[in-house]
Amino acid sequence: MIEVKNIQDTSLAENPVIAQMSKFNHEQLLFCNDNETGLKAIIAVHNTVLGPALGGTRMWMYNNEMDALTDVLRLSRGMTYKNAISGLNLGGGKAVIIGDSRSMKSEALFRRFGKFVNSLGGKYITAEDVGISPIDMTWVNMETDHVVGLPGKSGDPSPVTAHGVYVGMKACAHEQYGTDSLSGKKVLVQGVGHVGEYLVASLAKEGAKIYISDIHEETLKRVASTYGATVVGINEVYDVDMDIYAPCALGATVNDDTLSRLKCSIIAGAANNQLANESVHGVKVMEKGIIYAPDFALNAGGVINCYSEVKSLQSSWALNKAEEIYTTISNIVKRSKNEGIPTYQIANKMAEERIEAIGKVKLPL
Ligand code: NAD
Repeated sequence: MIEVKNIQDTSLAENPVIAQMSKFNHEQLLFCNDNETGLKAIIAVHNTVLGPALGGTRMWMYNNEMDALTDVLRLSRGMTYKNAISGLNLGGGKAVIIGDSRSMKSEALFRRFGKFVNSLGGKYITAEDVGISPIDMTWVNMETDHVVGLPGKSGDPSPVTAHGVYVGMKACAHEQYGTDSLSGKKVLVQGVGHVGEYLVASLAKEGAKIYISDIHEETLKRVASTYGATVVGINEVYDVDMDIYAPCALGATVNDDTLSRLKCSIIAGAANNQLANESVHGVKVMEKGIIYAPDFALNAGGVINCYSEVKSLQSSWALNKAEEIYTTISNIVKRSKNEGIPTYQIANKMAEERIEAIGKVKLPL
């Protein structure tokens, strides 16, 4: 006799993948496999209420598939919030390619990946991220038009990112010191790579007292002598007497250890995921009277630059749009003070409010 199963008994929530997706309401996941090229990738589309999901592709040697899944779900959701708070008509998505970016890259692998991106019909637009170079993206582009950050197009996003960080830092200064001016302010820039150096250039022009730190001695020396900055050792960073701490290298540098040492009154930098634990350290910075500029709102210049490529806009458009980061940060800090809620929570709320409001606009008449 055939056993008739009650399909209601098999709860979708028991499926770990769907359960993970439903936790933060991800729309779609695409698992990509190709034995010929060795491609193993996951594309996550978190939310497309505001527009196509834009977010880079990361190539990383994950310990296991679950780590890759967790990362792509977390990163794609982050893109939804970043794109929403920046006023862009873009949703959030991200892709991860599981593998060693030093040994596993090939034209065939990236073209195969491009075909998977294309199969989503423009719902997901990809770009470079960790482990991916412009040449890799040109291969992806051979199979799909849904790619940005290509050579000869919108170009290096770092100047736009740095400009957004700079104006957002000024907005914090206005709230904390009553003036936009950073002249004479002691600013420590941790990491003087692509974004950090452009930021140092703007700060030097304004007459800030600049401290810099980096693991690359050559870069450190060059930037110090070009802009008259003072070099600080990697481990001394958190003990420097400073007004503004600008993390532009690594994530999770705002943690229990550093918060017990940091003497700054503003944290505003380009690095992603600066708070080691949002719900703990986002509250602690507020309790210490430090204004923390939420990283995803402050460093949105990069995605603004990508958007200019999606819409074929001039590069000057991206720089002008990045100026709006001043108002965004200013509004976040004001609301945080008024509502007594940490800035990171206010930023999340503002992104969610926009998605909700525009979602209603998009309903049929
Ligand atoms: P980058 O690699 O060019 O620069 C990072 C710099 O940090 C390098 O010079 C590196 O030597 C230095 N560094 C690494 N570890 C360090 C340490 N322990 N102490 C001090 N310095 C250290 O990267 P980037 O493009 O300038 O980006 C900087 C940060 O901003 C990254 O976290 C990135 O994810 C984020 N971000 C960048 C953009 C962009 O447009 N490039 C956009 C958004 C966010």
